[in-house]
Amino acid sequence: MRKTKIVVLGAGYGGLMTVTRLQKALGQEEADIVLVNKNDYHYETTWLHEASAGTLHHDRVRYDINNVINRSKVEFIRAEVQDIKTDEKKVILNTGEIDYDYLVFALGGESETFGIQGLKEYAFTISNVNAARQIREHIDYQFATYATELEKQEERLTIVVGGAGFTGIEFLGELVNRVPELCREYDIDYAKVRIYCVEAAPMVLPGFDPELVQYAVAQLEKKGVEFKIGTAIKEATEDGIKVAKGDDIEEIKAGTVIWAAGVRGNSIIEKAGIDNMRARVKVNPDLRAPGHDNIFVIGDSSLVINEEINRPYPPTAQIAMQQGEVCARNIVKLVRGSEGELETFKPDIKGTVCSLGDDDAIGVVFGKKLTGTKASFMKKMIDNRALLMIGGPSLVLKKGKFNFI
Ligand code: FAD
Repeated sequence: MRKTKIVVLGAGYGGLMTVTRLQKALGQEEADIVLVNKNDYHYETTWLHEASAGTLHHDRVRYDINNVINRSKVEFIRAEVQDIKTDEKKVILNTGEIDYDYLVFALGGESETFGIQGLKEYAFTISNVNAARQIREHIDYQFATYATELEKQEERLTIVVGGAGFTGIEFLGELVNRVPELCREYDIDYAKVRIYCVEAAPMVLPGFDPELVQYAVAQLEKKGVEFKIGTAIKEATEDGIKVAKGDDIEEIKAGTVIWAAGVRGNSIIEKAGIDNMRARVKVNPDLRAPGHDNIFVIGDSSLVINEEINRPYPPTAQIAMQQGEVCARNIVKLVRGSEGELETFKPDIKGTVCSLGDDDAIGVVFGKKLTGTKASFMKKMIDNRALLMIGGPSLVLKKGKFNFI
């Protein structure tokens, strides 16, 4: 009899969690498991702001996929997914096609620019390892050029971060530690550097405890960040950005613009014709796409409603990993022919910690508010836990964060 073929697309948090759980639960004779990813490494997306600012080397944020999969049970294909033909149960790759019985879509999300002119062309996004390297090198280049040019262009030293959500604030936390180092390296007066955070919403870190937000803003302001809240980026240009607060339009000349304000699902969902909202699939309780009994969607391309506030949960690694576990258990049940008992996914939010640099953070963990080194310690524990869950203690020893203060 032909074995069931399970294809997992994406080796991020959701995809690797699914695969590592499937390889443990299923025997070789029960199913063929295939993992597809565009690189042969996994990267910790939640650490990319550090690599982007240059406070952590980019090689620290990635590890070999082969280190965490069991090659005798999982076939790894390094390829780029281009489309899914749901009627034919086929995935189109840049290297060919593969068919599936069960598909797990875990390709993560994409940056959402809300149609703002010029963002795609002139702003950077913290989206993968190479994008992070480019941001770090671009900022370095601006400082190096400023230091050597005869007619100084001060705007080279201006950095704009669009968005005061999780990603924007965590990046700013790293940046305010890195920029003084850069100033020392290139003999630049720190007073000449301008770091702006521009946010259209009326608050920083929406949804976070207001007292903690106040702490975060005060810490970042102390280190030189200028917040422009309730201010929308209207356009990005070669020279910087144009912003609007009410009727007032202002131009901020900047050598670096980072867009960190929006996530949408993966556009392959739209291309494949699976029902979606901004490329995110409002999944059934068992994580399957409505109308597609053999397709699971997890991570940033899925949408799960928080019934308490009737709004979607923000896309996080925490949720992607929990979905991976439930998705794997549900697939095992389907492979073993017990469809009637599929598990319902319910996020178990243990807490949220937002880093403000290496030794500072804010967070709520198991209902307790934390700031400073205690919160930063928790952040590192959360980072290490993600490694542990996917790759076990050896991965934690290899890649973990142990620089506790
Ligand atoms: P990802 O982890 O993004 O993985 C997707 C994988 O698919 C990648 O390996 C990618 O290379 C691959 N891929 C994509 N397209 C293709 C293709 N076409 N073909 C082949 N492979 C492809 N969440 C938290 O819970 N806590 C945090 O502290 C936190 N901090 C964050 C900080 C930053 C700077 C950022 C950017 C995000 C942060 N998040 C955080 C959000 C979190 O990183 C995401 O929610 C999470 O990564 C989503 O997991 P995923 O499995 O859906 O996708």
